[in-house]
Amino acid sequence: MLGQMMTAPLLISSLIDHAAKYHGETEIVSVETDGETSRSSWGEVAINARRLGSALSKLGLEPQARCATIAWNNRRHLEIYFGVSGAGFVCHTINPRLFPEQLVFIINHADDQVLFLDMTFLPIAAKLREHLPNLKHIVLMGPRDDAAAEQVPGLLFYDELLETGDPDFEWPQFDENTASSLCYTSGTTGNPKGVLYSHRSTLLHTFAANQADALALTAADVVMPVVPMFHVNAWGVPYCAAMAGSRLVMPGPGLDGASLVKLIDDNGVTLALGVPTIWLGLLAHAKGTGSKLNSLTRTVVGGSACPPAMLKQFREDFGVDTIHAWGMTEMSPLGSVNIPLAKHKDLPIEEQHRLRESQGRPTFGVELKIVDEDGNTLPNDGKTQGDLLVRGHWVLDSYFRMEDQNVLQDGWFATGDVATIDADGYMTIRDRSKDIIKSGGEWISSVELENIAIGHPKLANAAVIGVHHAKWDERPLLVAVAAEGESPSEEELLAFYEGKIASWQVPDKVVFIDALPLNATGKVLKRALREQFADALK
Ligand code: AMP
Repeated sequence: MLGQMMTAPLLISSLIDHAAKYHGETEIVSVETDGETSRSSWGEVAINARRLGSALSKLGLEPQARCATIAWNNRRHLEIYFGVSGAGFVCHTINPRLFPEQLVFIINHADDQVLFLDMTFLPIAAKLREHLPNLKHIVLMGPRDDAAAEQVPGLLFYDELLETGDPDFEWPQFDENTASSLCYTSGTTGNPKGVLYSHRSTLLHTFAANQADALALTAADVVMPVVPMFHVNAWGVPYCAAMAGSRLVMPGPGLDGASLVKLIDDNGVTLALGVPTIWLGLLAHAKGTGSKLNSLTRTVVGGSACPPAMLKQFREDFGVDTIHAWGMTEMSPLGSVNIPLAKHKDLPIEEQHRLRESQGRPTFGVELKIVDEDGNTLPNDGKTQGDLLVRGHWVLDSYFRMEDQNVLQDGWFATGDVATIDADGYMTIRDRSKDIIKSGGEWISSVELENIAIGHPKLANAAVIGVHHAKWDERPLLVAVAAEGESPSEEELLAFYEGKIASWQVPDKVVFIDALPLNATGKVLKRALREQFADALK
């Protein structure tokens, strides 16, 4: 041997150890399910994570046993992230907004042994209990509560469970390819599919997400993950915050504009991350109350396309830099982040702003390409659109318990998105392939039409869907939600498109609706809209 560097497995326990050792005093603010605010620290989270790992081991769980959570973003959930994975079990975060049948399917498919719940979700657990034969323990995330114990026989209490655990528990060491966590895709059709992350993929994703040209969490940041911990591990923010030693503000159940503005102002939040629908509420409230969101320097927006009007409002009204990012459950989730290049600084300011609208360029560790129907690679010219494929260190190889089904194309994962990529690698999502509107052989991007509509001052929200048309096969329909106190006409909304897109792309019609139907992760349920308005152009 010529010499060698040290090797150690990349394990999630090392993240919490680091946070405790070097940022032990750094505060974790948490809004609890009863609305109270608790304050702890990375040091305390680490001790509780060790206690939990020890307590779960004493329950006799097998290595890699799945421990599920149905919970808000709060301090105990954070401890579970590190305690469960650190001790060699798999942290399976479940989206509470799924239908009861989907919850039963997921818990049984994952073979969950333990289920951690916030009080909000106790009634669901009581109702579903009889359909979950393999579940061994249900743990309420709080102190003992006799009324709750009556609802679910055998219920355990998190705070009591911790008492049985050893605060000096030694994290086990194992292969870094061991599974650490599990998330199911929201699945608009068919059963949800599980994506099983490993310690290695999670650590590499964390390093990448913390790069300066990515989410770039620092020890000086006060970070508020509004993105739920049940949505792709809150985009990895709990791990990134532990690695960087950031102060965390966990917003709990109240994700309305008023609650979020208050949390930002009271705690000096510098970085907040979430889906566009959340920010619509926040911006409306901040504007109405005159809050300037003084502490906030940047937001990360992803999960669905960030409307350009939102980037502009954050920038001009609040001085907040909005970073548009793209990813998916199958990618842990980070794929691309929109950060400018050096050469962009010399461009006219309007052009610089326009460039920030795309979904950005891949971080190191992920590759993107677009292909045609036959799988041929298409040019990165910013114009040609094709199916977006990805590969990388934190991209899915096969779905959980579906290893026999090959989901890759020549080693690449097909995202189901249609995109363009420019010469610098900046990628723009044109649509989900199933949402793109096929009008007389031409494709119209529903995202582009929505982005324009959402910029209309009299609209609170908008979606565009393809609706059957006798001559053109499909034509765009604008489904509009009026802003409070406004009643825009169809004519003025359609006139708003003039000069912004080719006239043949302008929607044929506008229908008004009180609220858009959203799926479990806050994305517009276009399938439901297509069904509801199937005959709109007849
Ligand atoms: P999920 O696995 O639930 O996070 O959904 C992933 C999908 O959300 C992607 O394949 C995209 O279609 C969509 N998505 C995520 N981020 C963005 C974004 N910034 N712009 C447009 N679509 C996005």
